[in-house]
Amino acid sequence: MAKPILLSVDDDADVLRAIERDLRTNYGGDYRIIGSGSPTGALDLLKQLKVRNDNVALLLADQRMPHLDGVGFLQEAMRIYPDAKRALLTAYADTNAAIGAINQASIHYFFMKPWDPPAEHLYPQLDDLLEDWQASHRPAYEGIRVLGTRWSPKSYELRDFLARNHVPYQWIDVEISASDPETKLLLDALGDETARIPIVLFPDGSKLLECVPADVAQKVGLRTRAQTNFYDLAIIGGGPAGLAAAVYGASEGLHTVMVEREAPGGQAGMSSRIENYLGFPAGLSGGDLARRAVVQAQRFGVEIIAAEASGIRMEGPYRIIQLADGSEFSCHALMIATGVQWRRLEAPGIDRLQGAGVYYGGGATEAISCKDEIVYVVGGANSAGQAAMNFAKYAKKVYILVRGSSLSSTMSQYLIDQIKEMPNIQVWSHASVAEVHGATHVEEISVLCSDTGKIERVPASGVFIFIGALPRTDWLAGIVERDDRGFLLTGPDLVVDGHPPKSWTLERDPFLLETNVPGIFAVGDVRHGSVKRVASGVGEGSVAVQFIHQYLSKVQ
Ligand SMILES: Cc1cc2nc3c(=O)[nH]c(=O)nc-3n(C[C@H](O)[C@H](O)[C@H](O)COP(=O)(O)OP(=O)(O)OC[C@H]3O[C@@H](n4cnc5c(N)ncnc54)[C@H](O)[C@@H]3O)c2cc1C
Repeated sequence: MAKPILLSVDDDADVLRAIERDLRTNYGGDYRIIGSGSPTGALDLLKQLKVRNDNVALLLADQRMPHLDGVGFLQEAMRIYPDAKRALLTAYADTNAAIGAINQASIHYFFMKPWDPPAEHLYPQLDDLLEDWQASHRPAYEGIRVLGTRWSPKSYELRDFLARNHVPYQWIDVEISASDPETKLLLDALGDETARIPIVLFPDGSKLLECVPADVAQKVGLRTRAQTNFYDLAIIGGGPAGLAAAVYGASEGLHTVMVEREAPGGQAGMSSRIENYLGFPAGLSGGDLARRAVVQAQRFGVEIIAAEASGIRMEGPYRIIQLADGSEFSCHALMIATGVQWRRLEAPGIDRLQGAGVYYGGGATEAISCKDEIVYVVGGANSAGQAAMNFAKYAKKVYILVRGSSLSSTMSQYLIDQIKEMPNIQVWSHASVAEVHGATHVEEISVLCSDTGKIERVPASGVFIFIGALPRTDWLAGIVERDDRGFLLTGPDLVVDGHPPKSWTLERDPFLLETNVPGIFAVGDVRHGSVKRVASGVGEGSVAVQFIHQYLSKVQ
């Protein structure tokens, strides 16, 4: 924990040196001693310290300084650090002024110059003041702080990114907590910069304004570029399938890199409770599963890059991966494990309010914010059911909107049973979103009831959409064969009437999970015909490594 600060201010360099020396001698072990030769410079410094969340225990200022005297300085400084103890250094002639200042400017003490010997005229009084300060002081939060507003899509994107990458942070909603005295002091210290949310404040004193996930990724130590030019195995996508491939590949000696554009865990990372994954009878959250898998992969030496793969090309036996920032690296075996992304819901207001009450998928970071509110979950599959159960812990009411007559054909029975038991969840069948309303964030939605043909306008503060998903594989078009919906074809899908695809040049047929390009494999939800489950993704990712070994044993 950073030491609290004792700040002394004096325009006389000799006096400043002497007071700093004496403070350091007695308090240097427990406090940071800082001196400033000008009161205005000291005020600027205090603002910077405030933004860094540093603690200031004592402000000690000479009364006679040009432009701003000691009392004036302490009054200004009190606005920035109201809890710091304030003391004046005075000459004998200023005694009366100092006594007046004690009442008028809430000054805690005044010292007479010279204060020799300090053991008699300085330390006992300061000990008293600092003990008082320690007794009432609450240590400041020392990690990353994110300032934004709940309804700002950029703030949401950033918080979601940090949460899913397991980066701890303190969230400060500048609208809701603007009346909180500490937040107000911080906003004052930031001045005009407050408008440039989201703002990320780091413990080292640096800050990022209008921050996007890529900026913060670098700063918190997530790698955004490959560390070397070549790997035995490169995996694109860090969901369950990619993570399993990474663990198996690296544990079996392959130099392995995994590229993930959002956060390891993929769709599973959005799941509030996975109850059907073998070995976890009480279920576990997708976030937990992802965190454990990442630790396991890193233990085996997998390099994880926070970046988006945007293209591939072949050079002989090398598969070259291009990242969205323009950098490239190569590998012998490439595994595509990019899963699927949510289908968009088409209705007026949806795009405009995305991130401001409309969310695709999880909204894990949003659940707590929905306390005592009314939220709508759109979709009838297990993912929607899990989300509804999670929101029901916080929200006043959760409605599940389904087009059909019930959940029975789309959701697992165990979830249907859990939902029935929750008094604040209601399934609204034959219903779909017709429009979303609100100026800056969702306030109401219009629901089309297909059985009556009527539209009902109802209050809502969140709409969470879970309406099926499709792969985003355009960046592989023309190289890797896909079905008409974009899923990747592998193994037997490619063999027609006993013949592999025309472009196939090897004697053997493609391996079970291999695409039409030798050495490029596809696993998990992105693969045509895959079972869309965590366990099957993990299974495919693990099994594919066996085929990769066979492929690598022949590659030149
Ligand atoms: C809310 C929810 C709850 C679920 N609950 C369960 C459950 O209880 N039990 C169960 O068995 N299944 C569940 N599922 C389904 C399960 O999560 C998926 O089947 C599984 O995650 C698929 O794994 P995957 O690795 O193939 O793909 P994904 O999990 O989709 O991961 C793909 C990853 O690739 C990344 N990516 C995509 N394109 C690129 C690119 N170009 N560059 C870099 N990275 C890229 C994505 O960011 C993503 O992280 C749930 C799904 C959801 C959404």
